[in-house]
Amino acid sequence: MTPTRSRTAAQMLDFTWWTVGEIAYDDAEADPLIRTCPDLPYRPLQEHPALFVRFADLSGDLPSFAEFMAEYGPLLSPEGDRLSVWTTEHDAMQEAVALFEALDSEIVSSRREETKGALADLINAGLARHGINPEVVPSRVPCQKGYLSYRVRDLAGAMWLQAAVAVDGDRKYAICPVCEKRYDATDATDRREFCGDKCRAKAHYRRRKGGEAK
Ligand SMILES: [Zn+2]
Repeated sequence: MTPTRSRTAAQMLDFTWWTVGEIAYDDAEADPLIRTCPDLPYRPLQEHPALFVRFADLSGDLPSFAEFMAEYGPLLSPEGDRLSVWTTEHDAMQEAVALFEALDSEIVSSRREETKGALADLINAGLARHGINPEVVPSRVPCQKGYLSYRVRDLAGAMWLQAAVAVDGDRKYAICPVCEKRYDATDATDRREFCGDKCRAKAHYRRRKGGEAK
């Protein structure tokens, strides 16, 4: 099966994670455990292809991590993660996204190759840290033996896979004018300038309301 132009290899993966219910932590601790419990299942790779960029965009303090966790779930363990886990992953992802974007901007040619190497190293380390391994999945289609895919174990791994796919496919990211979060705008035309249908509907509603007010 050939993926359609707008879907990446990662988006074809059937990886399920959970949004969470309550979040609790003791911020008096040096490295608090941000505790949680799984709530609703969702498919990060299909539903949020720009999640790794959104993660990198976080300010990096405990409340920003807790807010992200409430929306997309913990990074590693369904019961919650230590703050140090979030800090380590966030620092690495922020650096990777900065290098990724530096390559899209005017960068002196002598440093381009160095930047590409540093970006690849960061992403490869992230993939290795979270055990993203190639695997053969038996096909449900009778005439097809199986297909090559990747094993994804946790949300952090899923985001590093997204970063790898972003480099491979030279994906482009833009800021949604409604929710101000970044989204995958690689296939966006002028008509599709929002992160999704929800924000597009909101923008239309606001425009209509604005029109009536005059
Ligand atoms: Zn939006």
